[in-house]
Amino acid sequence: MASANANAAKDKAMELAESSRDSDWKFPSFTAEMFRGNFRWDLLHSFPEQSAEDKRIGDEFIEKLKGVLDTHVNPDEIDRTGEYPQEAIEALAAIGLFGMTIGKEYDGLGFSKTNYCRVLHFLGSYCHNTVTWVSAHQSIGCPQPIKIFGTDDQKKRFLPRLAKGAISAFALTEPEVGSDPARMATTATPSDDGKFYLLNGTKLWITNGTRSELLVVMAKTPPKIVNGKERMQISAFIVETNSPGFEVKHRCHFMGLKAIGNGVLTFDNVKVPAENLIGKPGEGLRIALTTLNTGRLGLPAAAVGGAKAMLRECETWIKDRIQWGVPIGKHQHIAKFSANIAADTLAMEALVWLCSSWADKGNADIRLEAAAAKYFCTEKSWQMIDDFVQVRGGKGYETSASMYNRGERPIPAERWLRDARIGRIFEGSTQVMHLIMAREAMDTHFKLVMPLLKPDPNNKKSKLQLVIEAAKFYTRWYPKLYLPSVQTYNVNYLSPANQAHLPWIEKTTRRAARVLFHTMAKYKEQLEYEQVILGNFVDIGVDIFTMSALLAFVEHKLAKNPSDQSPQELANLFCKNAKARIEANFRAVKNNHNTEFAKVADSLMDGDYRWMYSDIYNGIHPHWKKMEAENAYEEVSAK
Ligand SMILES: Cc1cc2nc3c(=O)[nH]c(=O)nc-3n(C[C@H](O)[C@H](O)[C@H](O)COP(=O)(O)OP(=O)(O)OC[C@H]3O[C@@H](n4cnc5c(N)ncnc54)[C@H](O)[C@@H]3O)c2cc1C
Repeated sequence: MASANANAAKDKAMELAESSRDSDWKFPSFTAEMFRGNFRWDLLHSFPEQSAEDKRIGDEFIEKLKGVLDTHVNPDEIDRTGEYPQEAIEALAAIGLFGMTIGKEYDGLGFSKTNYCRVLHFLGSYCHNTVTWVSAHQSIGCPQPIKIFGTDDQKKRFLPRLAKGAISAFALTEPEVGSDPARMATTATPSDDGKFYLLNGTKLWITNGTRSELLVVMAKTPPKIVNGKERMQISAFIVETNSPGFEVKHRCHFMGLKAIGNGVLTFDNVKVPAENLIGKPGEGLRIALTTLNTGRLGLPAAAVGGAKAMLRECETWIKDRIQWGVPIGKHQHIAKFSANIAADTLAMEALVWLCSSWADKGNADIRLEAAAAKYFCTEKSWQMIDDFVQVRGGKGYETSASMYNRGERPIPAERWLRDARIGRIFEGSTQVMHLIMAREAMDTHFKLVMPLLKPDPNNKKSKLQLVIEAAKFYTRWYPKLYLPSVQTYNVNYLSPANQAHLPWIEKTTRRAARVLFHTMAKYKEQLEYEQVILGNFVDIGVDIFTMSALLAFVEHKLAKNPSDQSPQELANLFCKNAKARIEANFRAVKNNHNTEFAKVADSLMDGDYRWMYSDIYNGIHPHWKKMEAENAYEEVSAK
């Protein structure tokens, strides 16, 4: 019974996600094509370059920003006090930092996505608390959904305020809603006269929420009947935080990002005018997902800036620190960490500039690529900072204040580590990025094969029609996956190293599509639930995409400066690492023990391993004790 309920809840979550998913592909997507076995090098090469005029605008702004950071923002002090100075916010707002993505017609700076990412990249090399204030407001806060889905009236009313520095936030998460919006409890009840909605509920961990003037809030509106079944409706609202009934109940504190203004927000019959509904009722989740899709490049851009700041410190440290008679960079373990930091940083950078340029040109669909960039850059960033802490030894674990106080160059590796960890969780966790990309990897097969494996009573096509459609596609598509390379990599304009890498990537793209198809034939409709195997394919895809972006980026650099082979050296290392990861992922698709994970996790949930912790400290934490006294503590064994 419990498992039937779990499956029904899973189906409900998937149905909601599916109904909010944008199923149209108006522009080509490198990654979607790749999962179908097509290697679209033409979409990457020549690597797009920022125009001189756009670059000038970005350069000038960054110079101005540096001045404000130098005078108002001390990252270590902000981390230590856990308070972001209001005068810093005001100084940053005064130069237009909170209106970068808002058009000039609404008093914003009207920056291109590339310049927006360049600014976050710059901030990421200095202070991640600042990154978060800026990005929660602009990557996901009110400007983005209003720009994309707002009415003219909403744009006129809100964008100029937001551009001038009225801080905003994005409120989706709730105590019971993280990755699964189907559990949403916040409601927006329309008034009888249709003039307003009454908002009730609690939102958790809302970044900027403690100082926001405006929020975009997702809430449940009355359900709709679709195909005879009730379908949950989530709608998006612009909410003024000075509305009666709104309260910041609690400011949340975290492992890192100590000075963000993140809070628990409550809504008690908050009256929201109907004119503040964004889009139509029921479009809220699609709006939230689209906002996240387009906003997702901010975090990777900041991660690249952070990686470069670390690389700079790494260079000096591994040269100057002598142990066992040589600089530690000469020890192979440290050389491996440091070399990978350099190579991965360049790969991350290639993804960010490629995706931001595509976003500007509007000639490519980047929802998968932005997800890939978010996933790859936040994971790599965490891994490389962890490696850097290792490279720094004890000084990697010491706070920069402590180093400063004893007269040592204060490199804040431990702060970087603390600040980076959340990147793998918020704005779509790594696992959710995998689900999004896996869904799209399977799209063609889902459309053609799933209706046969899992018949849908609402499907108007007969089984025979479905079989003919699938046969027509697969008899043409499948044999092509065995053809040798169909592209010629022009020897006149590609480096010899890349002429070797590219055919491998092309061949591997087709191999991945083939193996995915075979895997589907093996697992049939169960494949949907094989998250780890689908994750292997996603990881193969992300590595293929990243290698390709990096090679195009390197070609671009070589064309400008042929005598400098250092980018190629880094690309060669990255490709070697990526190829090894790809091969490991192919092996894991075929040969794995994934079923054992479920078995052991089930036993864990059933309490079968309690014997393992029977001999540890068995008192209760003082805070828990207090909560127990207040009847708020649930004992583990009681579950
Ligand atoms: C510092 C901070 C800032 C934040 N800022 C905001 C904000 O501004 N606005 C906002 O709305 N939210 C915000 N959040 C919430 C954040 O987006 C969520 O934490 C995130 O979406 C994950 O949800 P969760 O923590 O509830 O984890 P859960 O959804 O409970 O997931 C727990 C674990 O299970 C995994 N998981 C969940 N579902 C699946 C699945 N189907 N398959 C496989 N694995 C799964 C997750 O990846 C995670 O590892 C913030 C959180 C933090 C900590």
